[in-house]
Amino acid sequence: MSDAPERAYEPRKSICPFCGVGCGVVYNHETGKGTGWEAPVNTRGELCPKGVAAFEPGEHEDRLTQPLVRENGQFVTAPWEEAIARVVEGLEAARETHGPESLAFFSSSNCTNEENYLFQKIARALGTNNVDNCARLCHSSTVTAMAERFGAGAMTNTLEDIPEADVFLVTGANPAEQHPVIFNSYLGPAIQDGTTLIHVDPRDNKTTNAADIHLPVSPGYDIPLLNALAKVLLEEDLVEDSFVAERTTRFEEFVDSLADVDVEANADLAGVDPEKLRAAARAYGEADRAAAFTGMGMSQHHCGTDNVRALLNLALLTGNVGKRGTGVNPLRGQNNVQGANDVGARPADLPGYESVTDEAARERVAAVWGFEPPSTPGLTEVELTHEFGDSVHAAFVFAENPGLTEPNLNRVRREFDELDFLVVQDLFMTETAEHADVILPGSTWAEKAGSVTNTDRQVMRMRPNASLPGDARRDLDILREIGERLTDVSFDYDGPGEVFDEMTTVNPLYEGMAYADIGEGSLRWPFPAGADDGVGVLHEDTFATGDRTTPLLPVEHVPPADDLGEGELALTTGRVLQHFNSGAFSRRSETLVRMRGEDVLEMHPADADDRGIEDGERVAVENDRGLVEVAAAVSPIITQGSVFLTFHYSDPATNDLTGDALDPEAKIPEYKHSAVTVRPVE
Ligand code: SF4
Repeated sequence: MSDAPERAYEPRKSICPFCGVGCGVVYNHETGKGTGWEAPVNTRGELCPKGVAAFEPGEHEDRLTQPLVRENGQFVTAPWEEAIARVVEGLEAARETHGPESLAFFSSSNCTNEENYLFQKIARALGTNNVDNCARLCHSSTVTAMAERFGAGAMTNTLEDIPEADVFLVTGANPAEQHPVIFNSYLGPAIQDGTTLIHVDPRDNKTTNAADIHLPVSPGYDIPLLNALAKVLLEEDLVEDSFVAERTTRFEEFVDSLADVDVEANADLAGVDPEKLRAAARAYGEADRAAAFTGMGMSQHHCGTDNVRALLNLALLTGNVGKRGTGVNPLRGQNNVQGANDVGARPADLPGYESVTDEAARERVAAVWGFEPPSTPGLTEVELTHEFGDSVHAAFVFAENPGLTEPNLNRVRREFDELDFLVVQDLFMTETAEHADVILPGSTWAEKAGSVTNTDRQVMRMRPNASLPGDARRDLDILREIGERLTDVSFDYDGPGEVFDEMTTVNPLYEGMAYADIGEGSLRWPFPAGADDGVGVLHEDTFATGDRTTPLLPVEHVPPADDLGEGELALTTGRVLQHFNSGAFSRRSETLVRMRGEDVLEMHPADADDRGIEDGERVAVENDRGLVEVAAAVSPIITQGSVFLTFHYSDPATNDLTGDALDPEAKIPEYKHSAVTVRPVE
């Protein structure tokens, strides 16, 4: 038994760990709830239900508080010294036998900038770029498309300026449920004041309730819809000619690419009313300022990069870039999706998105690190699990749960068992940890200090509200010790401030920032000399590429990877307001579970009738990858021909049904379209 002291609590201003909005929250130990404070984003101290329940995982009885090592197939507790020694031995053995590319590092967009920075530095000090983070699974295609065209894979605008828009075009996102503080505090008031909301989504959800125009696109058919919108802009002379002339190239080629696009036929293919589509194009094209938002309904396709490219074309055609109340704005999922990528937890990029193939960038980093990172891009997250047992023999999974979040989980489960060694650093016995050789008990948000970067590029500080339970350790301390013992490089940092300040010297986006200057406010990247707290609206005179112009790119429709056979429906997946992704935190949260305790399949009444399915009846959702049994919610909320399933609770899991098809550039899986049959459970 541990002789660790009782936990101590001290309410301190921190940042909510659950989504990329980045609300300020403190822990109220007397009520057991999170309480908002007047922070840079939630300026009135407002929180959504997840923020209120944010502390629950830290107090949960299932929390791991001692290191575990596997002995004769069973987990037994072990002292930290032994657990870390086994980690060093396991990773070194694979590296010595098979070389550095036999190692895989899974980092976490739920952890701080400093933790992600140290984690990728450990991987690179060992000689591999095989380090990725779970943003690969949500917005990697958005980042690829936006970095290519604009030079920055992030919101072009800020939460503060977007209410100035006359039109919001929200594609593949449901901010009323997934980013509630953004919706309620920024978009909602603007809509009440007259901003038109166009919502493109296969579901009629809470965001749709506020929409003026809803285009219920069939999953996988965003490109026909977006190309048809572009065609209407051209046909009805809604192009901003001066912007196109001054800031874009390849306009004629782009126009030619749309020559054969028939608006009515594309609308039909996308499953939307052509008149509504035309009305949406007119509203977007006629607006003085129109702001687009994009979410995982766009990015999680095997054509996710092309989906976002098609959206960027609309913004460029109408001159909606580089000024307040406009732009293309990805709504990021986890609390530090932006930062985990910014600080280099990516297989092809050093901190600040500098390519590992760029010799000058490697040399700049080497001057600070004392070693040159490898020059060959590593593998992405899903590619790595595909290589388990072949080229990859040992893995370090840090605060991530690919055993539940990757697609085609029956494959993933088999692949984890192919590893020679697996270490997992996490809070609970997750589906990934069950395969581990060593489990290291880390810290929740409420026990750690560090910085996170939210969806509109604001770097903010987290502060500990509680001491650690049992023998659990702070994540940064665990990584520092492993770095010290596993590599030839010093990881002797005096806390997150020293790590952050080093990171700013190798990361051009964060250059000039200082940890001490963040305080209770925020610093925003980019952060050029003379900018008090960073640049708000990007691409005003030049794009972040450094160029004044960027091309309009023709985009062709790519059919979904799964063909729909006779009687099959298109499964699309997502989450609910009260829950969060795989729930490695919240699936064990009693409050959150009480709010909605199991995954539910939403199904259109006509599709239910065809299959003799009643509302509330248990149904089998099946394809050749897996079978999931859940309750059916029969409702016209979902477009006919598609079904919607959350992925929080099911056992077997919803991702047993999703497929391996990857976007060829961003390597994001196609979570949003899987062919399934649905039948009553016999
Ligand atoms: Fe937390 Fe996001 Fe809810 Fe804000 S909107 S309280 S950051 S989950």
